[in-house]
Amino acid sequence: MLSEKERKVLQLIDENKEKLIEYLRKLISFKTVTPASGGKAEGDDYKKLQEFVYKTLEEMGFTLDMWEIDSSTLENFPGSGVEPERDLSNMPVVVGELKGQGKGKSLILNGHYDVVPVGVIENWSHDPFKGEIEDNKIFGRGACDMKGGIATMIEAVKLIQKAGIKLDGDITVQTVPEEEMSCMGTLACCQKGYKADAAIIPEPTDLDVLIAMRGNAGGKLTVFGRAGHADEGVQPHWSVGGAVNAISKSVKMIQAFEELTEEWRTRPDKQHKLLNPDMVMPTVIRGGEWAVTYPEKVEIAFNAPFIPGTVNPGKEIEEKIMSVAATDSWMKEHPPKIESSGWMYGAEIDENEPIIKAAIEASRELGIEPKLTGMDSLTDAIHLINYSKIPTISIGVDISTAHKADEFADIGQLIKATKMIALTILRWCGYS
Ligand SMILES: [Zn+2]
Repeated sequence: MLSEKERKVLQLIDENKEKLIEYLRKLISFKTVTPASGGKAEGDDYKKLQEFVYKTLEEMGFTLDMWEIDSSTLENFPGSGVEPERDLSNMPVVVGELKGQGKGKSLILNGHYDVVPVGVIENWSHDPFKGEIEDNKIFGRGACDMKGGIATMIEAVKLIQKAGIKLDGDITVQTVPEEEMSCMGTLACCQKGYKADAAIIPEPTDLDVLIAMRGNAGGKLTVFGRAGHADEGVQPHWSVGGAVNAISKSVKMIQAFEELTEEWRTRPDKQHKLLNPDMVMPTVIRGGEWAVTYPEKVEIAFNAPFIPGTVNPGKEIEEKIMSVAATDSWMKEHPPKIESSGWMYGAEIDENEPIIKAAIEASRELGIEPKLTGMDSLTDAIHLINYSKIPTISIGVDISTAHKADEFADIGQLIKATKMIALTILRWCGYS
Protein backbone atom coordinates (compact mmCIF):
# COMPACT_ATOMS: atom_id res chain seq x y z
CA MET A 1 0.00 0.00 0.00
CA LEU A 2 1.27 3.41 -0.92
CA SER A 3 1.25 6.05 1.78
CA GLU A 4 -0.08 9.50 1.04
CA LYS A 5 3.47 10.86 0.98
CA GLU A 6 4.65 8.16 -1.41
CA ARG A 7 1.69 8.91 -3.66
CA LYS A 8 2.67 12.57 -3.63
CA VAL A 9 6.25 11.74 -4.74
CA LEU A 10 4.97 9.57 -7.61
CA GLN A 11 2.64 12.35 -8.69
CA LEU A 12 5.50 14.85 -8.65
CA ILE A 13 7.61 12.50 -10.79
CA ASP A 14 4.86 12.51 -13.43
CA GLU A 15 4.38 16.26 -13.20
CA ASN A 16 8.12 16.96 -13.50
CA LYS A 17 8.72 14.72 -16.50
CA GLU A 18 9.97 17.64 -18.62
CA LYS A 19 12.55 18.55 -16.00
CA LEU A 20 13.91 15.00 -15.96
CA ILE A 21 14.15 15.07 -19.75
CA GLU A 22 15.97 18.41 -19.72
CA TYR A 23 18.37 17.21 -17.03
CA LEU A 24 19.29 14.13 -19.04
CA ARG A 25 19.65 16.12 -22.27
CA LYS A 26 22.02 18.45 -20.46
CA LEU A 27 24.12 15.51 -19.17
CA ILE A 28 24.29 14.02 -22.69
CA SER A 29 25.51 17.37 -24.07
CA PHE A 30 28.80 17.04 -22.16
CA LYS A 31 31.29 15.00 -24.19
CA THR A 32 32.65 12.72 -21.49
CA VAL A 33 34.05 9.82 -23.50
CA THR A 34 36.27 7.43 -21.54
CA PRO A 35 39.85 8.03 -22.70
CA ALA A 36 41.46 5.12 -24.57
CA SER A 37 44.28 3.13 -23.02
CA GLY A 38 47.31 5.37 -22.63
CA GLY A 39 45.21 8.50 -23.15
CA LYS A 40 43.74 11.10 -20.81
CA ALA A 41 40.64 13.26 -20.68
CA GLU A 42 40.92 16.33 -22.91
CA GLY A 43 38.74 19.41 -22.86
CA ASP A 44 36.46 20.95 -20.25
CA ASP A 45 33.41 18.75 -20.54
CA TYR A 46 34.28 16.26 -17.78
CA LYS A 47 34.76 19.08 -15.28
CA LYS A 48 31.77 20.99 -16.55
CA LEU A 49 29.48 17.99 -16.16
CA GLN A 50 30.71 17.43 -12.61
CA GLU A 51 30.35 21.13 -11.75
CA PHE A 52 26.80 20.94 -13.07
CA VAL A 53 26.02 17.91 -10.87
CA TYR A 54 27.83 19.53 -7.92
CA LYS A 55 25.66 22.62 -8.22
CA THR A 56 22.48 20.54 -8.39
CA LEU A 57 23.40 18.61 -5.25
CA GLU A 58 24.51 21.79 -3.46
CA GLU A 59 21.11 23.35 -4.10
CA MET A 60 19.54 20.20 -2.64
CA GLY A 61 21.49 20.66 0.59
CA PHE A 62 24.17 18.00 0.08
CA THR A 63 27.63 18.38 1.64
CA LEU A 64 30.08 17.93 -1.21
CA ASP A 65 33.47 16.53 -1.97
CA MET A 66 35.02 16.85 -5.43
CA TRP A 67 38.49 15.58 -6.30
CA GLU A 68 40.72 14.17 -9.00
CA ILE A 69 42.09 10.65 -8.59
CA ASP A 70 45.80 9.90 -8.58
CA SER A 71 45.62 6.26 -9.66
CA SER A 72 49.17 5.56 -8.44
CA THR A 73 47.97 6.12 -4.87
CA LEU A 74 45.09 3.62 -5.02
CA GLU A 75 45.42 0.39 -3.10
CA ASN A 76 46.25 -2.14 -5.80
CA PHE A 77 45.29 -5.74 -5.04
CA PRO A 78 44.57 -8.83 -7.18
CA GLY A 79 41.31 -8.40 -9.07
CA SER A 80 41.07 -4.66 -8.42
CA GLY A 81 41.77 -3.62 -12.00
CA VAL A 82 43.94 -0.75 -10.71
CA GLU A 83 46.17 0.68 -13.42
CA PRO A 84 48.67 2.82 -11.51
CA GLU A 85 49.97 4.44 -14.70
CA ARG A 86 46.59 5.63 -15.94
CA ASP A 87 46.11 9.39 -15.94
CA LEU A 88 42.75 10.22 -14.35
CA SER A 89 43.34 13.94 -14.03
CA ASN A 90 40.65 16.16 -15.51
CA MET A 91 37.98 13.55 -14.69
CA PRO A 92 36.82 14.56 -11.22
CA VAL A 93 34.72 12.49 -8.84
CA VAL A 94 31.82 14.12 -7.02
CA VAL A 95 30.42 12.73 -3.78
CA GLY A 96 27.52 14.41 -2.02
CA GLU A 97 26.20 13.48 1.40
CA LEU A 98 22.79 14.30 2.77
CA LYS A 99 22.27 13.58 6.44
CA GLY A 100 19.02 11.92 7.40
CA GLN A 101 17.16 12.48 10.64
CA GLY A 102 19.23 9.72 12.18
CA LYS A 103 17.32 6.48 12.67
CA GLY A 104 17.04 5.09 9.13
CA LYS A 105 19.26 2.92 6.96
CA SER A 106 21.76 4.66 4.71
CA LEU A 107 22.00 4.37 0.94
CA ILE A 108 24.57 5.14 -1.75
CA LEU A 109 23.36 6.13 -5.21
CA ASN A 110 26.22 5.71 -7.67
CA GLY A 111 26.43 6.52 -11.38
CA HIS A 112 29.25 6.72 -13.92
CA TYR A 113 29.31 9.73 -16.22
CA ASP A 114 31.93 8.44 -18.64
CA VAL A 115 30.61 6.99 -21.89
CA VAL A 116 32.09 4.76 -24.57
CA PRO A 117 33.17 6.35 -27.88
CA VAL A 118 30.53 7.13 -30.48
CA GLY A 119 31.79 4.50 -32.96
CA VAL A 120 31.03 4.95 -36.65
CA ILE A 121 29.22 8.28 -36.74
CA GLU A 122 27.54 7.51 -40.08
CA ASN A 123 25.60 4.75 -38.30
CA TRP A 124 23.86 7.32 -36.11
CA SER A 125 20.70 9.03 -37.28
CA HIS A 126 20.86 11.43 -34.30
CA ASP A 127 23.58 13.70 -32.98
CA PRO A 128 25.24 11.61 -30.19
CA PHE A 129 25.64 14.67 -27.94
CA LYS A 130 22.41 16.60 -28.42
CA GLY A 131 19.82 14.46 -26.64
CA GLU A 132 17.42 14.63 -29.56
CA ILE A 133 13.91 13.39 -28.84
CA GLU A 134 11.92 11.26 -31.23
CA ASP A 135 9.20 8.70 -30.69
CA ASN A 136 9.21 9.26 -26.91
CA LYS A 137 12.93 8.38 -26.72
CA ILE A 138 15.96 10.49 -25.87
CA PHE A 139 18.89 9.68 -28.16
CA GLY A 140 22.56 10.17 -27.40
CA ARG A 141 25.72 8.50 -26.17
CA GLY A 142 25.14 7.66 -22.52
CA ALA A 143 21.33 8.04 -22.75
CA CYS A 144 20.88 4.60 -21.18
CA ASP A 145 24.46 3.80 -20.09
CA MET A 146 24.16 5.63 -17.82
CA LYS A 147 23.52 9.34 -17.82
CA GLY A 148 19.85 8.36 -17.82
CA GLY A 149 20.54 6.57 -14.53
CA ILE A 150 22.25 9.61 -13.04
CA ALA A 151 19.27 11.77 -14.01
CA THR A 152 16.79 9.31 -12.48
CA MET A 153 18.62 8.96 -9.16
CA ILE A 154 19.08 12.71 -8.71
CA GLU A 155 15.49 13.49 -9.73
CA ALA A 156 14.21 10.82 -7.34
CA VAL A 157 15.88 12.51 -4.35
CA LYS A 158 14.95 15.99 -5.57
CA LEU A 159 11.25 15.13 -5.80
CA ILE A 160 11.24 13.40 -2.42
CA GLN A 161 12.47 16.72 -1.04
CA LYS A 162 9.94 18.66 -3.08
CA ALA A 163 7.18 16.59 -1.52
CA GLY A 164 8.31 17.94 1.84
CA ILE A 165 9.56 14.56 3.04
CA LYS A 166 12.48 14.20 5.43
CA LEU A 167 14.43 10.95 5.09
CA ASP A 168 15.55 9.13 8.23
CA GLY A 169 18.67 7.53 6.70
CA ASP A 170 21.65 9.23 5.04
CA ILE A 171 21.89 9.46 1.26
CA THR A 172 25.24 9.55 -0.54
CA VAL A 173 25.33 10.40 -4.25
CA GLN A 174 28.47 9.50 -6.20
CA THR A 175 29.09 10.49 -9.83
CA VAL A 176 32.25 8.89 -11.11
CA PRO A 177 34.44 8.48 -14.23
CA GLU A 178 36.13 5.35 -15.56
CA GLU A 179 33.48 2.65 -15.24
CA GLU A 180 33.85 1.81 -18.92
CA MET A 181 37.58 1.22 -18.49
CA SER A 182 38.97 0.38 -15.06
CA CYS A 183 36.28 1.11 -12.44
CA MET A 184 38.86 3.18 -10.56
CA GLY A 185 36.38 6.05 -10.06
CA THR A 186 34.15 4.04 -7.77
CA LEU A 187 37.14 2.25 -6.22
CA ALA A 188 38.51 5.68 -5.24
CA CYS A 189 35.21 6.44 -3.43
CA CYS A 190 35.37 3.06 -1.67
CA GLN A 191 38.98 3.63 -0.64
CA LYS A 192 38.09 7.08 0.71
CA GLY A 193 35.81 5.24 3.10
CA TYR A 194 32.33 6.10 1.83
CA LYS A 195 30.01 3.44 3.26
CA ALA A 196 26.31 2.75 3.49
CA ASP A 197 23.91 -0.05 4.39
CA ALA A 198 23.15 -0.60 0.68
CA ALA A 199 23.76 0.91 -2.74
CA ILE A 200 21.86 1.35 -5.98
CA ILE A 201 23.61 1.86 -9.31
CA PRO A 202 20.97 2.80 -11.90
CA GLU A 203 22.72 1.02 -14.76
CA PRO A 204 20.33 -0.10 -17.51
CA THR A 205 18.53 -3.34 -16.53
CA ASP A 206 15.21 -3.04 -18.37
CA LEU A 207 13.54 -2.42 -14.99
CA ASP A 208 14.83 -5.69 -13.54
CA VAL A 209 16.98 -5.95 -10.43
CA LEU A 210 20.59 -6.82 -11.21
CA ILE A 211 22.42 -8.72 -8.47
CA ALA A 212 25.31 -10.64 -10.10
CA MET A 213 28.01 -10.05 -12.70
CA ARG A 214 30.92 -11.86 -14.24
CA GLY A 215 34.51 -10.78 -13.69
CA ASN A 216 36.92 -10.44 -16.53
CA ALA A 217 40.49 -11.46 -17.29
CA GLY A 218 42.53 -10.68 -20.35
CA GLY A 219 45.92 -11.48 -21.75
CA LYS A 220 48.16 -12.01 -24.70
CA LEU A 221 49.47 -15.27 -26.09
CA THR A 222 52.55 -15.22 -28.32
CA VAL A 223 53.17 -18.22 -30.55
CA PHE A 224 56.59 -18.63 -32.13
CA GLY A 225 57.73 -19.99 -35.49
CA ARG A 226 60.94 -19.91 -37.49
CA ALA A 227 61.42 -17.81 -40.61
CA GLY A 228 62.16 -19.26 -44.03
CA HIS A 229 61.46 -18.55 -47.69
CA ALA A 230 57.83 -19.43 -48.34
CA ASP A 231 58.50 -20.36 -51.98
CA GLU A 232 61.04 -23.06 -51.18
CA GLY A 233 59.96 -26.64 -51.58
CA VAL A 234 59.50 -29.08 -48.72
CA GLN A 235 61.18 -27.73 -45.61
CA PRO A 236 63.52 -29.94 -43.61
CA HIS A 237 62.31 -30.89 -40.15
CA TRP A 238 62.58 -28.04 -37.68
CA SER A 239 65.11 -30.02 -35.61
CA VAL A 240 67.55 -29.79 -38.49
CA GLY A 241 66.86 -26.11 -39.21
CA GLY A 242 63.61 -26.14 -41.17
CA ALA A 243 61.20 -23.22 -41.12
CA VAL A 244 58.12 -23.34 -38.85
CA ASN A 245 54.88 -21.52 -39.57
CA ALA A 246 53.71 -19.68 -36.45
CA ILE A 247 50.25 -19.15 -37.95
CA SER A 248 49.75 -22.89 -38.37
CA LYS A 249 50.91 -23.45 -34.77
CA SER A 250 48.56 -20.76 -33.48
CA VAL A 251 45.59 -22.68 -34.89
CA LYS A 252 46.23 -25.31 -32.19
CA MET A 253 46.25 -22.61 -29.55
CA ILE A 254 42.93 -21.19 -30.73
CA GLN A 255 41.52 -24.72 -30.65
CA ALA A 256 42.79 -25.01 -27.08
CA PHE A 257 40.79 -21.90 -26.12
CA GLU A 258 37.72 -23.39 -27.77
CA GLU A 259 38.16 -26.75 -26.02
CA LEU A 260 38.47 -25.04 -22.67
CA THR A 261 35.36 -22.93 -23.28
CA GLU A 262 33.48 -26.06 -24.31
CA GLU A 263 34.62 -27.89 -21.18
CA TRP A 264 33.57 -24.98 -18.92
CA ARG A 265 30.18 -24.78 -20.61
CA THR A 266 29.00 -27.87 -18.74
CA ARG A 267 31.50 -28.24 -15.88
CA PRO A 268 29.63 -28.02 -12.55
CA ASP A 269 31.99 -25.48 -10.93
CA LYS A 270 31.43 -23.05 -13.82
CA GLN A 271 27.64 -22.93 -13.59
CA HIS A 272 25.73 -19.97 -12.15
CA LYS A 273 22.00 -19.46 -11.82
CA LEU A 274 22.02 -15.99 -13.38
CA LEU A 275 25.21 -15.91 -15.45
CA ASN A 276 26.78 -17.67 -18.40
CA PRO A 277 29.69 -20.01 -17.63
CA ASP A 278 33.33 -18.95 -17.95
CA MET A 279 34.78 -18.64 -21.41
CA VAL A 280 38.03 -17.69 -23.13
CA MET A 281 37.97 -16.17 -26.56
CA PRO A 282 40.64 -14.86 -28.94
CA THR A 283 39.73 -11.25 -29.76
CA VAL A 284 42.73 -9.81 -31.65
CA ILE A 285 45.22 -11.72 -33.78
CA ARG A 286 48.31 -10.38 -35.40
CA GLY A 287 51.01 -12.39 -37.14
CA GLY A 288 53.30 -12.71 -40.09
CA GLU A 289 55.77 -10.17 -41.41
CA TRP A 290 56.08 -10.72 -45.13
CA ALA A 291 53.88 -12.37 -47.75
CA VAL A 292 56.64 -14.73 -48.92
CA THR A 293 58.15 -15.55 -45.52
CA TYR A 294 57.24 -18.21 -42.98
CA PRO A 295 55.63 -16.24 -40.12
CA GLU A 296 57.91 -16.13 -37.06
CA LYS A 297 55.44 -14.84 -34.55
CA VAL A 298 51.70 -14.62 -33.90
CA GLU A 299 50.18 -12.61 -31.09
CA ILE A 300 46.69 -13.43 -29.90
CA ALA A 301 44.87 -11.21 -27.43
CA PHE A 302 42.19 -13.05 -25.48
CA ASN A 303 39.28 -12.15 -23.26
CA ALA A 304 38.01 -14.38 -20.47
CA PRO A 305 34.86 -13.47 -18.54
CA PHE A 306 34.17 -15.64 -15.50
CA ILE A 307 31.56 -16.19 -12.80
CA PRO A 308 32.20 -14.72 -9.33
CA GLY A 309 33.09 -18.14 -7.92
CA THR A 310 36.07 -18.56 -10.25
CA VAL A 311 38.24 -15.77 -8.81
CA ASN A 312 40.82 -15.78 -11.63
CA PRO A 313 40.85 -18.23 -14.56
CA GLY A 314 44.39 -17.26 -15.67
CA LYS A 315 46.09 -20.29 -14.14
CA GLU A 316 43.81 -22.80 -15.79
CA ILE A 317 44.10 -21.05 -19.17
CA GLU A 318 47.87 -21.20 -18.93
CA GLU A 319 47.84 -24.89 -17.97
CA LYS A 320 45.60 -25.73 -20.91
CA ILE A 321 47.76 -23.80 -23.39
CA MET A 322 50.94 -25.41 -22.11
CA SER A 323 49.48 -28.92 -22.10
CA VAL A 324 48.35 -28.59 -25.72
CA ALA A 325 51.69 -27.01 -26.68
CA ALA A 326 53.46 -30.00 -25.11
CA THR A 327 51.80 -32.33 -27.62
CA ASP A 328 53.57 -30.53 -30.46
CA SER A 329 57.29 -31.21 -30.75
CA TRP A 330 58.15 -27.66 -31.90
CA MET A 331 56.02 -25.92 -29.29
CA LYS A 332 57.29 -28.27 -26.60
CA GLU A 333 60.79 -26.95 -27.29
CA HIS A 334 59.65 -23.40 -28.11
CA PRO A 335 56.69 -22.88 -25.80
CA PRO A 336 54.25 -20.05 -26.40
CA LYS A 337 54.42 -17.13 -24.02
CA ILE A 338 51.32 -16.14 -22.09
CA GLU A 339 51.03 -12.76 -20.42
CA SER A 340 48.17 -11.50 -18.26
CA SER A 341 46.90 -8.00 -18.98
CA GLY A 342 45.11 -7.96 -15.65
CA TRP A 343 41.83 -9.14 -14.27
CA MET A 344 38.89 -7.77 -12.38
CA TYR A 345 36.79 -9.80 -10.00
CA GLY A 346 33.11 -10.49 -10.54
CA ALA A 347 30.52 -9.92 -7.84
CA GLU A 348 27.15 -11.02 -6.59
CA ILE A 349 24.97 -10.49 -3.58
CA ASP A 350 22.76 -12.92 -1.70
CA GLU A 351 19.20 -13.12 -3.00
CA ASN A 352 17.93 -12.51 0.53
CA GLU A 353 19.58 -9.11 0.95
CA PRO A 354 17.01 -6.67 2.34
CA ILE A 355 17.75 -4.06 -0.36
CA ILE A 356 16.50 -6.53 -3.00
CA LYS A 357 13.29 -7.05 -1.08
CA ALA A 358 12.83 -3.29 -0.71
CA ALA A 359 13.31 -2.73 -4.45
CA ILE A 360 10.95 -5.54 -5.43
CA GLU A 361 8.22 -4.42 -3.05
CA ALA A 362 8.56 -0.85 -4.27
CA SER A 363 8.28 -2.04 -7.89
CA ARG A 364 5.17 -4.09 -7.16
CA GLU A 365 3.47 -0.95 -5.86
CA LEU A 366 3.95 0.40 -9.38
CA GLY A 367 2.59 -2.74 -11.05
CA ILE A 368 6.09 -3.81 -12.10
CA GLU A 369 7.27 -7.37 -11.35
CA PRO A 370 11.06 -7.24 -11.70
CA LYS A 371 13.16 -10.38 -12.18
CA LEU A 372 16.45 -10.92 -10.40
CA THR A 373 19.09 -10.83 -13.13
CA GLY A 374 22.78 -11.19 -13.74
CA MET A 375 24.98 -9.49 -16.30
CA ASP A 376 27.81 -11.14 -18.20
CA SER A 377 30.00 -8.05 -18.00
CA LEU A 378 30.91 -6.14 -14.89
CA THR A 379 29.99 -2.73 -13.48
CA ASP A 380 31.24 -0.51 -10.67
CA ALA A 381 29.19 -2.68 -8.30
CA ILE A 382 32.20 -5.02 -8.06
CA HIS A 383 33.98 -2.58 -5.78
CA LEU A 384 30.97 -1.58 -3.70
CA ILE A 385 30.25 -5.28 -3.13
CA ASN A 386 33.76 -6.74 -2.79
CA TYR A 387 35.82 -3.90 -1.38
CA SER A 388 33.29 -1.99 0.71
CA LYS A 389 31.00 -4.96 1.46
CA ILE A 390 27.92 -2.96 0.52
CA PRO A 391 24.96 -4.96 -0.87
CA THR A 392 24.48 -3.30 -4.26
CA ILE A 393 21.76 -3.63 -6.87
CA SER A 394 21.10 -1.98 -10.22
CA ILE A 395 17.72 -0.82 -11.50
CA GLY A 396 17.39 1.13 -14.71
CA VAL A 397 16.07 1.48 -18.23
CA ASP A 398 16.43 -0.82 -21.25
CA ILE A 399 20.03 -1.79 -22.03
CA SER A 400 19.54 -2.90 -25.64
CA THR A 401 21.19 0.14 -27.27
CA ALA A 402 24.09 0.56 -24.81
CA HIS A 403 27.44 0.98 -26.61
CA LYS A 404 25.62 1.05 -29.99
CA ALA A 405 24.73 3.66 -32.59
CA ASP A 406 21.52 5.58 -31.80
CA GLU A 407 21.70 4.75 -28.11
CA PHE A 408 18.50 5.88 -26.44
CA ALA A 409 16.51 5.92 -23.23
CA ASP A 410 12.76 5.50 -23.44
CA ILE A 411 11.07 8.34 -21.60
CA GLY A 412 8.32 6.10 -20.20
CA GLN A 413 10.98 3.80 -18.74
CA LEU A 414 12.94 6.72 -17.32
CA ILE A 415 9.84 7.78 -15.43
CA LYS A 416 9.22 4.21 -14.20
CA ALA A 417 12.86 3.82 -13.11
CA THR A 418 12.70 7.14 -11.25
CA LYS A 419 9.59 5.94 -9.43
CA MET A 420 11.17 2.57 -8.57
CA ILE A 421 14.25 4.31 -7.19
CA ALA A 422 12.27 6.95 -5.30
CA LEU A 423 10.03 4.38 -3.61
CA THR A 424 13.01 2.17 -2.79
CA ILE A 425 14.78 5.14 -1.21
CA LEU A 426 11.71 6.01 0.88
CA ARG A 427 11.22 2.46 2.12
CA TRP A 428 14.90 1.79 2.69
CA CYS A 429 15.81 5.00 4.45
CA GLY A 430 12.48 5.57 6.21
CA TYR A 431 10.87 9.01 6.31
CA SER A 432 8.55 11.38 8.01
ZN1 LIG B 1 27.34 1.53 -17.55
